[in-house]
Amino acid sequence: MSRGHDLLIVGGGPAGLATALHAARAGLDTVIAEPRRPPVDKACGEGLMPGAVRALAALGLEVPGHPLTGIRYIQGSRQVQAAFRHGPGLGARRTDLHSALHRAVLDAGVPVLPLRVEDVRQDTTGVTVPGTGLRARWLVAADGLHSPVRRSLGLEVKTRGAPRYGLRQHYAVPPWSPYVEVHWGAHAEAYVTPLGPALVGIALLTARRAPFTTQLDGFPELAARLPPETAVTPVRGAGPLRQRARTRAHGRVLLVGDAAGYVDALTGEGVSLALTGAEALVANVRRGTPSRYETDWSRATRRHRLLTDVLVRARQQPALAPHIMPTAARLPRLFAAAVNALA
Ligand SMILES: Cc1cc2nc3c(=O)[nH]c(=O)nc-3n(C[C@H](O)[C@H](O)[C@H](O)COP(=O)(O)OP(=O)(O)OC[C@H]3O[C@@H](n4cnc5c(N)ncnc54)[C@H](O)[C@@H]3O)c2cc1C
Repeated sequence: MSRGHDLLIVGGGPAGLATALHAARAGLDTVIAEPRRPPVDKACGEGLMPGAVRALAALGLEVPGHPLTGIRYIQGSRQVQAAFRHGPGLGARRTDLHSALHRAVLDAGVPVLPLRVEDVRQDTTGVTVPGTGLRARWLVAADGLHSPVRRSLGLEVKTRGAPRYGLRQHYAVPPWSPYVEVHWGAHAEAYVTPLGPALVGIALLTARRAPFTTQLDGFPELAARLPPETAVTPVRGAGPLRQRARTRAHGRVLLVGDAAGYVDALTGEGVSLALTGAEALVANVRRGTPSRYETDWSRATRRHRLLTDVLVRARQQPALAPHIMPTAARLPRLFAAAVNALA
């Protein structure tokens, strides 16, 4: 058995990799367990909001992509848009985001072990992963939406409401707008994210289980811009999206990113929250105040959780759903304030 690390991070997605970068900067002896080979891809809308762009820049990272000017909602002939007031966002492929973070982590001297961690044991001084010889003072569960560590520790909380899912695919067509477009359909929302000079990503969010192409047929104007032969990646899916954790700090296990809880992809803030959470987690470990992490995480994510929750619940109420887009169009200042409160 090793003498023990300061931090063992389970999961090398944006949350785990950013946690490792902050930890390395703080001088913590850190190791990551991530079974998938880089660059890791994932179903995602790939719109990095301005907060995420700033957090990546603060980590000294440059991610290639397409600048995003703001958010545009579209329903039939109605449109409303809001520009980001505090710097641009970035449309970036997950593989590019992962490569930039992964490279920086290796440069910082943090090992990434090709290991799947399902079972952890903790005592008063640290956490052990049975059968691996790995031990650390703190274990960070950064293992995503369906966090096996969260499940193994009994920290999952049942969620209510119809489960929603996400599907994504990429098309080799030039972006037609620097805005992230959110098309509101009868049964789904379609996100269009410009990703490069000849690449757009389409992410569909829905409670209806049907193949990507069937769902896309619900958006005839969008489908017309996306000939099937221009599809350049396989469809990837994720869900159910809403996940809750009983706590973010369970003894010596700390949860971050989607593992800490996730509301929905409707407002495109997941990576921002993962990066913010990573910073708060390491700051508390470094200060020796891990129990304050829960408070800091709640404060940092409250506005996003609340706004996303309200929007998703309205979306799922047949009486309210048809009014979301007309209300946003009638109250463009409120829409802009909401977009910028999240961004
Ligand atoms: C359809 C969809 C659209 C989205 N759109 C956006 C968007 O436009 N903008 C945005 O900011 N966010 C978006 N999100 C959210 C965003 O993708 C997530 O919030 C973000 O990826 C969270 O990062 P993470 O590191 O917590 O989790 P993940 O990215 O899921 O990474 C978790 C990692 O843990 C690893 N892992 C899993 N199990 C184990 C194990 N047992 N042992 C070790 N490692 C393990 C996985 O291999 C993975 O690499 C979207 C999500 C979905 C589903």
